[in-house]
Amino acid sequence: MVAEAWLNAALGGGLGLLIGSFLNVVVYRVPAMMYRDWLRESSDNLMAADPAYGVQTSLWDLVFGSRKPVPPPPQLYASAAAVGKALDALAPLDLMRPRSRCGHCGHAIRWYENVPVLSYLALRGRCAGCHGRISPRYPLVELATGLLFALCGWRWGLTPLALAWAVFAALLLCQFLIDMDTQLLPDSLNYLLLWSGLVVAALGWTVPLELALWGAVAGYLVLWGFFHAYRLLTGKEGMGYGDFKLLAALGAWLGADHLLAILLLSSIVGALLGGAMLLVGKLAHKDVPIAFGPFLAGAGLVCLIAGPNEVRHLVPFAFPFSLR
Ligand SMILES: [Zn+2]
Repeated sequence: MVAEAWLNAALGGGLGLLIGSFLNVVVYRVPAMMYRDWLRESSDNLMAADPAYGVQTSLWDLVFGSRKPVPPPPQLYASAAAVGKALDALAPLDLMRPRSRCGHCGHAIRWYENVPVLSYLALRGRCAGCHGRISPRYPLVELATGLLFALCGWRWGLTPLALAWAVFAALLLCQFLIDMDTQLLPDSLNYLLLWSGLVVAALGWTVPLELALWGAVAGYLVLWGFFHAYRLLTGKEGMGYGDFKLLAALGAWLGADHLLAILLLSSIVGALLGGAMLLVGKLAHKDVPIAFGPFLAGAGLVCLIAGPNEVRHLVPFAFPFSLR
């Protein structure tokens, strides 16, 4: 039995290393793809302010009214058209295209330079083309994904449940890094996490479906409430809508009774991460706003590592109600 658990961990770990390599691409490209889409929408929307653009009523009038018209600024269409044209000229960007390249010299990365962790070690952290430094973050993300997948294989064997939790881990890892990098939490990943959490509950693999549903609803509402209370009291915005959706997704996976523990763990993760960043000098001073998403994602990963059913032993006082 023990030997089998280690074999499952090794198989999970191997798959995790490969998926980790793909997650590096996701983390790097999804925010760029999102921003490209936003620019395209902005350009299209500004163009639609022009009655000559082909929209029956100028959409500009929906906002500024047509009775006492505020005319669009003169450069508006020219700027919007220029942005649209610049976007048209770009090469396609998605998770498959273009091939991965060195950020310094554009050297196309060959398959044997893309073996998780090993290639980085063999190349001593440098590009084969220009010998420019490759960030150690890439192998570290591969390693982290490998370890998380190994844990899933070890705990749940080679089962669909192990795969489900591996997906959970992969999506949280992406949100953790993307929010750190860009202060964005892509809806595409948040919704995938939310829907998959509800589906695995409906399949009877995780928590009772009712707990998952209320976890999603309450997770969203709790942070939504915090957000508006904080804004009323201080006039500032402490977090974003992506944070509400991420907690909703965690509630779907772990159940409503875990929400308090997740929030508690996220503040601990936040204190640890913030302290570490202060130490390495990444935060100039304490007032810099830091994204909340990495703490939530970190708390979700702590729940997975501790064991979704064991979290209540880790922080017993965060479970005042017995919901099952
Ligand atoms: Zn290079």
